[in-house]
Amino acid sequence: MSVFDHIEFDEHEHVAFCHDKETGLKAIIAVHNSHLGPALGGCRMWPYASSEEALNDVLRLSKGMTYKAAMANLSQGGGKAVIIGDPRVHKTPEMMRAMGRFVESLSGKYISAEDSGMSVSDLKLMAEESTYISGTKASYHFAGEEADGNPAPSTAYGVFVGVKASVEYKFGTSLKGKKVAIQGLGHVGYRLAEHLHREGAELYVADIYPESLNRAKEQLNATIVSPQEILMLDVDVVAPCAMGATINRQSVEALKAKVIAGAANNQLATEDLGEVLRSKGVLYAPDYVINAGGIIDIYHQKMLSSNEALKTHLEKIGHTLREIYSRADEQKLATNVVANSLAEEKFRK
Ligand code: NAD
Repeated sequence: MSVFDHIEFDEHEHVAFCHDKETGLKAIIAVHNSHLGPALGGCRMWPYASSEEALNDVLRLSKGMTYKAAMANLSQGGGKAVIIGDPRVHKTPEMMRAMGRFVESLSGKYISAEDSGMSVSDLKLMAEESTYISGTKASYHFAGEEADGNPAPSTAYGVFVGVKASVEYKFGTSLKGKKVAIQGLGHVGYRLAEHLHREGAELYVADIYPESLNRAKEQLNATIVSPQEILMLDVDVVAPCAMGATINRQSVEALKAKVIAGAANNQLATEDLGEVLRSKGVLYAPDYVINAGGIIDIYHQKMLSSNEALKTHLEKIGHTLREIYSRADEQKLATNVVANSLAEEKFRK
């Protein structure tokens, strides 16, 4: 199928197919929209079953980055890169350098960062061949963590700010005593749990691995529940911080929480569920707005910014969400629909 006829093609500006015979690298780089600035987005390595599947992913994800950057008030566009292959089997330092050369060949139209299957050390290898690699070293120590370029601490703080704003909007209260269910205690979910615990929230947590669950029980007084139950608990907030599409017809039906606010990308299995949530009186924090802390962090790394500037920017996530919520109420529209049109206003003007 041609790129132009692809179902996920949405006026993408540039799609580059990259092949390096020496290292076996097969990759696709997509720039969706660079109206607001050079396209920033992670490079993902995944064992795609076909190049068609990889193309689908890169077209969809690069578009998502345009919306995310616009709503985070960044002078950046949206882009993404995917490498076809199993990162545990096929990745080599030479392959990473070859990928760096392809990024460099776009002369800054696309700026790469970390995504699934890629680490800061892989990005450092890419950066040997390209100046357009970000997320390899921060100039600040955000929230007292290592300045190694990992954006998860910023993502977690941004999600925390977003949960707080959502609770204030929905219940008119602080987080103290509010019951929050976190699905997935990984890099972002665990740090989010720590922030919420400090604010006095009551935590319920689920993961498929026991280590972080036990730590949350001991250190954060969290109640462990099964992955099957976590979205159906009688809590105030559900925070999806694992995989995408966990908010589907079934989980929405069983949902008791009045707020959904978490880190996962593509939380809604289908966009129309935003309206279903609205009609149930559930406040949904659009995923790419609340989880923009990562891209905001990468942007500040690129700008050699300070800890304070980063923190101020992350805290604007709360303001953006409040704006979306009041517009959604005024216009009787779903929050994801309002977020999309606000983003489009920004990058299409
Ligand atoms: P991670 O892989 O570190 O954590 C995900 C956690 O979810 C893991 O502990 C995993 O065991 C758990 N999990 C998987 N399936 C589960 C299930 N069915 N039920 C409960 N737990 C389950 O990933 P992360 O970096 O913490 O990111 C979490 C989510 O946030 C992802 O969707 C990611 O795309 C999104 N996100 C992350 C960042 C970032 O800066 N890391 C930025 C934006 C968005």
